[in-house]
Amino acid sequence: MTIIGPHVSIAKGFLHAAEDAASMGANTFQYFTRNPRGGAVKKLDHKDLEACRSFMEDHEFGPILAHAPYTLNMASSKPETRDFAFRAFSEDLERMEQIPCSLYNFHPGSHTGSGAETGIGWITEILNRTLVPEMTTTVLLETMAGKGTEIGRSFEELAEIIEKTELSEKLGVCMDTCHIFSAGYDIENHLEEVLDDFDRLIGLDRLKAIHLNDSKMPFGDHKDRHEKLGEGLIGPETIARFVTEPRLAAVPLFLETPNDNDGYAAEIRRVRLIRKEAGID
Ligand code: FE
Ligand code: FE
Ligand code: ZN
Repeated sequence: MTIIGPHVSIAKGFLHAAEDAASMGANTFQYFTRNPRGGAVKKLDHKDLEACRSFMEDHEFGPILAHAPYTLNMASSKPETRDFAFRAFSEDLERMEQIPCSLYNFHPGSHTGSGAETGIGWITEILNRTLVPEMTTTVLLETMAGKGTEIGRSFEELAEIIEKTELSEKLGVCMDTCHIFSAGYDIENHLEEVLDDFDRLIGLDRLKAIHLNDSKMPFGDHKDRHEKLGEGLIGPETIARFVTEPRLAAVPLFLETPNDNDGYAAEIRRVRLIRKEAGID
């Protein structure tokens, strides 16, 4: 069964977010753990979380995906930026344990000029201080477009982070279709080879989530601008081929497309239909 959902707000609570997602035909959702620009967090409401959990169970939801704030940059050359990243990340991970067995996605970060090697060193230093054996959350590294000094523009860079992390069994990857297209992975003409590469370097068993987005920017441009499915430069054929690729059939899909609820609902219906017609769902 296809697990697919939109990015929604948890401003009105987790139950509301799940109901909102379900109203769009979704059976999962993504949310920001806090204001995407950073900032303080509200205390978690256990009644709300419990109501959300039981709603998700009744509606056969898959795992939900938390997204870290964009301001979290573990790879920065500035100690105070890394310090904020460490504090927000460890606080988020602690909170995640109150929502058992879920997924937490973050952008590896930007090295701000000190080079990818140094940046990867800073990232793994924080991961090695924060990941603990007893945690139930799987932490996902997102594939990035590679704008500016962004780390995670290649599968090699993500593989290196995983390799240098002691508790690497806690790590997985979230593949963003807009980002890998912008990074120069030719999913239009060579999807098979792109997935072979991913499998060889990282392992498809680590692929725990997909951000399914089209791109406003051309292939290999290293720009990060999402578009509605089929309306961007990735286009409807490639999106259809991507979602019917058998090796990706079991991976939850999350939409970060510029849509209102009706737009998301239409995309969810379309992806489910494409899969059904291909005999995948
Ligand atoms: Fe992201
Ligand atoms: Fe994304
Ligand atoms: Zn993006």
